[in-house]
Amino acid sequence: MALYGAPVWSHRLTCAHRCKTKILSLQRRVAIRMVRGYRTISFEAATLLACFPPLDILAERDARIYDRTRALRQSGESASYPASAFGALRWQETWCARLRGDRYAHKRVVSAILPAFEAWMRRKRRVTFRLTQVLTGHGCFGEYLCKIGREAMAVCHHCEADQDTAQHTLEACPAWTVERQVLV
Ligand SMILES: [Zn+2]
Repeated sequence: MALYGAPVWSHRLTCAHRCKTKILSLQRRVAIRMVRGYRTISFEAATLLACFPPLDILAERDARIYDRTRALRQSGESASYPASAFGALRWQETWCARLRGDRYAHKRVVSAILPAFEAWMRRKRRVTFRLTQVLTGHGCFGEYLCKIGREAMAVCHHCEADQDTAQHTLEACPAWTVERQVLV
């Protein structure tokens, strides 16, 4: 019902949206610290690198568990939720489905990690700042430094290629031939 101007439910939705935005913004900053990345890294890249599931996905899952458990209690059945039923509530599937969407699938970090999502989540070691730079492209690469105004040109200082990118360092730059052979 509208009291003065916007309806009450509209006000509640706005508050919830603002709260969610603040929490996810905080999560992004924490995830960036965890992966030692540049502050320009996106939410999706930072959380994926940090293996830190988006908190809105976890909150929605917990809300569904709460609702179903309460419904079971009210119907007089066992209050414990059957373990088999949790399959549909797996946060990994929800997260992957979101990342497969048009908005994120083409992003560098997402396209690198998504094909090996489960193996990535099982990683014991945290990513180093170097791996974060290579996977995000946000690092000591001419193209990125040029974009943020730290360099006048995007050329590679090692081999004078026109575009110094993370992919150039990873695949082509002759300065890293020995390291590349070790990696391969
Ligand atoms: Zn080069």
